[in-house]
Parts: sequence; C-alpha cells; structure tokens
Amino acid sequence: MNKKTSGKIAIIGAGISGLLLSEKLIKEGCEVSLIGPTDERPQTICSWRSAETPLPQREHVIQSWQSWQMMHNGERNVQSSSRYRYEAINALSMKKSLEDSLSQSLKFNRVRQKVHSLIPETNSMQILTDKEEYRFSFLFDTRAPKRSKDCCLQQFTGMYLNVSPKTLNIHQPILMDFDVSQAATDGVTFVYALPLGEKNTLVEATQFGMTAVAPEVLTDIGREWIEKRSKTTLPTSLCTSKEQGLIPMGSIIPQSRHTIPFGVAAGATRPATGYALRGIEHQLDLISPWMKTKKAPAFKYSATARFMDSIFLKVLQNDPSIMKNVFWQMGQKIDGDIFASFLCDEGGLRGAFSAAMAVPKRSFIRQAFRR
Ligand SMILES: Cc1cc2nc3c(=O)[nH]c(=O)nc-3n(C[C@H](O)[C@H](O)[C@H](O)COP(=O)(O)OP(=O)(O)OC[C@H]3O[C@@H](n4cnc5c(N)ncnc54)[C@H](O)[C@@H]3O)c2cc1C
Repeated sequence: MNKKTSGKIAIIGAGISGLLLSEKLIKEGCEVSLIGPTDERPQTICSWRSAETPLPQREHVIQSWQSWQMMHNGERNVQSSSRYRYEAINALSMKKSLEDSLSQSLKFNRVRQKVHSLIPETNSMQILTDKEEYRFSFLFDTRAPKRSKDCCLQQFTGMYLNVSPKTLNIHQPILMDFDVSQAATDGVTFVYALPLGEKNTLVEATQFGMTAVAPEVLTDIGREWIEKRSKTTLPTSLCTSKEQGLIPMGSIIPQSRHTIPFGVAAGATRPATGYALRGIEHQLDLISPWMKTKKAPAFKYSATARFMDSIFLKVLQNDPSIMKNVFWQMGQKIDGDIFASFLCDEGGLRGAFSAAMAVPKRSFIRQAFRR
C-alpha cells in the first residue's frame, strides 16, 4: 500500500454534492481532495424554481415548464404556476463540467478510487483505498446513507427514449400517472414522464413503498405504459439509456460516525418527495459559516415541512391504498403556485394548510396521533 501525503480537507464521493462542495470550498480558499470514482450515471434532476431561486448552473438546464399534470382513473389534471417553473437539468453533463473546471484548479486534488475503510485517529482520519492510504483533518462524506428500519423507499427505473413526446401524447411533465400496474401491495406505483426535447422523452416507472422490487418489474411497467400510449411495441433501439434510483424517504443513517456527512447523506432529500437538489444548495450556503466554526453544516427542512412529511410517510407506511387519492386530491385542490412552493419548502404555513385541507382527513388525523 502506497502512503500518500495528506491534506486538511477531503471529500468522499464525486456525485453532485461532492463536486459542488469541492467547488464551494475552493472558492472559499481551501485545498480539497475529492476521492471516488468518476460518477458516470445519467441523471435528469428536476426542481421547482422561482425567479428568486435560479439554478446557478444554467447551462445544464434541458427544459423548464410552467405547468404539469397528474392522471388517475382516466382523468387528467393540469396545474399551472405563474411563479414557479419545473426545471430539468442534465446532471451528467453538470458532473462532467464540474470535473473539468475543478481539474484546472491548483487547489484541487482528484483521487479516482473507491474508499474501502476509514480509521479514526486523534486529530485526523485515515482513509484506505485499494492502492493508497491518506490522512486528512476534515473528512466530508457524500456516500449514499443507509436507511433506517422504518424508512420508506422511492425506487425508479427510467428510460430515455428517442421518441417524440407528441407520439406519447405528453405536452408537459406528467408528475404521476396512477393508471398503471402496481409493482407491490405495500406501496404505490406510478409513471413519471418528461418531454425533454423534440425527439427525447424520459419515462420513469416509480414505486413509493417499504420494500424494493426487482428493477425489471419497473422496467416492464414503464414499457407497458409507453406501448399503451404509442399503440405500438417499443423497439429496444429507441431506448438510448436508463437511469435508476433507490432513494430513502425518511430517516437515514450516515455511512460513518467519524465523518462530516454532506448532500443526501446529510438529509438533503425532502423525505416525502425524494427531491434533493434544492436541499444540497441550502447545505452549500452553510459552508462559509463552517469555515469559521468547523461545526457540521446541519441543514434541516422547516419544522412545518418535517411535520407534514412525517404524517405523509406514516400514511404511506400504514395505509398505502389511499396514497393515489392523496396525491390526486392535492393536485386537484391546490393552486399550482402553492403546490410548487409547498414541495420546495417555501410555502410556509399557508402551503401546509392547503395540503392538509386537500388530503383525505380521516387517515391523516389517525396517523398524526399514531406513535
Ligand atoms: C437517477 C436519479 C434521479 C434523481 N432525480 C432527482 C430529481 O429529479 N430531483 C432531485 O432533487 N433529486 C433527484 N435525485 C436525488 C439525487 O440523489 C440527488 O439530487 C443527487 O444525486 C444527490 O447527490 P449526492 O452527491 O448527494 O449523492 P449521490 O448522487 O448518491 O452521490 C454519492 C457519490 O458517492 C460515491 N461513492 C459511493 N461509495 C463510495 C466509496 N466507497 N468511495 C468513494 N465514492 C463512493 C458514488 O459513486 C457517488 O458518486 C435523483 C437521484 C437519482 C439517482
């Protein structure tokens, strides 16, 4: 094993969080080592944005929309917003461009190896990869966390299609189409679809529930949906690539007690939705204070959002059969601006109140009082 000279700050994981954190720390004047294989997973990452919260990396935006829809029992509901846009970015191109720009910096050291173990020492952490051994005083860790026993899961398999969205009758993002086969009985399955370009469509079969299903089950549900909409069988050649995800919805456990978790590993994911990018951006805002205090940057969603999410997840866990109706009612009864602001935790009490008024009350009240 080679012993490598060590530094002050290292980050494990070269996903979106690790790369954005490297960029931020370097801007603050730090030297940074980023450890982990190049992240080559295709990812289309969406978030709601208003004029006050633009994405800093505009060049990676693929499309944005002012309306979106849901479908249930053959009905379609379109929501529009005057304040928010639902914006899709090409996260793979963002990761590549961050890798390129960081590699130009003299303050950046890139180790493209997987970390195998961490050994805490008095004033540092020893990091072991396959070939080398490092020591750092501060170690940020962005590896995906483990999920706690009672944590729900969001699982999805997405297909990038070389097919016009019009062929599939998609004119704006379909956030949830519930008129699909169900992957498991302890959750809810739906299809999410994005019209990414003239000949580009992303179709994702998604499952919210307690147990993971075989990815092929979701692929089949997505394929069935595409074939039903296009009224033809889907030639394999039209599927250009796939993306997959398994995102914990609820309480998580960081990989190590001895590192500073960051990104999804530090709770950037909004528990009830699986959206994480806006949370990562909030965590990045805590880095300048961290430079002064060295206290772990502990971002939390608002108390209102955490309360609402905890009830929502209890309903998902204990009463999954009503979840389709929960989402459908929220889409139907809440105005698009309030819906978007609630989902990105900018809606305050008004957003929470509107959501609470829209959902089936009996089950929510029962779960609110359940331990
Ligand atoms: C396909 C997909 C689509 C998504 N869509 C959305 C969306 O639309 N909107 C949204 O807000 N969020 C979305 N998410 C949530 C998403 O998790 C985040 O937005 C983002 O990917 C989180 O980045 P991260 O760097 O915190 O974690 P990750 O992306 O999980 O990155 C962790 C990194 O750690 C690396 N790593 C793991 N183990 C080791 C090791 N032992 N040594 C070194 N490195 C290691 C991995 O290779 C990876 O690069 C999506 C996630 C996926 C997977």
